[in-house]
Amino acid sequence: MSFDRHFFFRGFRPFWTGLRGEIGGLLDRLLPVTCAFCGTLLDSSHQPTLCPSCLNTLNCEKPPSCPRCALPFPDFGGSDHLCGNCQRQPPPFRAVCALGVYEGPLRQAIHRFKYQQDFTLATPLGHLLSEAITGQHPSHHHLILPVPLHPRRLRQRTFNQSLLLARVIGNLSGIPVAANLLRRVMHTPSQQGLSLDDRRHNLINAFALHSKLSGQSVLLVDDVMTSGATVAACTNALLENGAQTVDVAILGRAAKSL
Ligand SMILES: [Zn+2]
Ligand SMILES: [Zn+2]
Repeated sequence: MSFDRHFFFRGFRPFWTGLRGEIGGLLDRLLPVTCAFCGTLLDSSHQPTLCPSCLNTLNCEKPPSCPRCALPFPDFGGSDHLCGNCQRQPPPFRAVCALGVYEGPLRQAIHRFKYQQDFTLATPLGHLLSEAITGQHPSHHHLILPVPLHPRRLRQRTFNQSLLLARVIGNLSGIPVAANLLRRVMHTPSQQGLSLDDRRHNLINAFALHSKLSGQSVLLVDDVMTSGATVAACTNALLENGAQTVDVAILGRAAKSL
């Protein structure tokens, strides 16, 4: 009797899927659920996996900020006017949604996620950012794109933190994530200490698209925004290649542009 390999695996797959679900359910009941930021035991598993204290700290009320680039204003004025940079040279993106200011506990969380490879923070941070996006950009996006790393940087870091965030937001919203559409084709050394004009100049032609878009509304995801030169260069590449609008979502917005 011949062995029908395809029949065997077709029959085995539902059994394995069921078993894996049972094991997953059992582990959920046996293993304690802890806060992804401070490690406190949680009563139940729900997203974001943060204790109330960390949830309050990481998702705190945002100060008044520029409605275009999310730069926080130092005084307590409203968010009804553009910052000086946006007035002098309006950025190409429509608006930036930031989870918060890049300082304090949010900065610590981003550092742990990005530099210490604490991937357990990707889901809760992505979840909080997704809620912020829903509040600020209610209009539908057709596509979510992460800001890409140059292949050389990707080999050093081994993962793209923006892609991990984009996938969480994509899973929650149902909007497709195009992980490889936008490419970083030019490696640029650290931009720290350079003026905004020099940063913009260094990033001309740094990004390219694998294929053209046709009028889509794009949500561009990154972890931190300082001068905005990187997301502006990505936005220019997207608009030049057929995107209709680009909104930006970031975890942390630096309190100063440079
Ligand atoms: Zn906590
Ligand atoms: Zn601005």
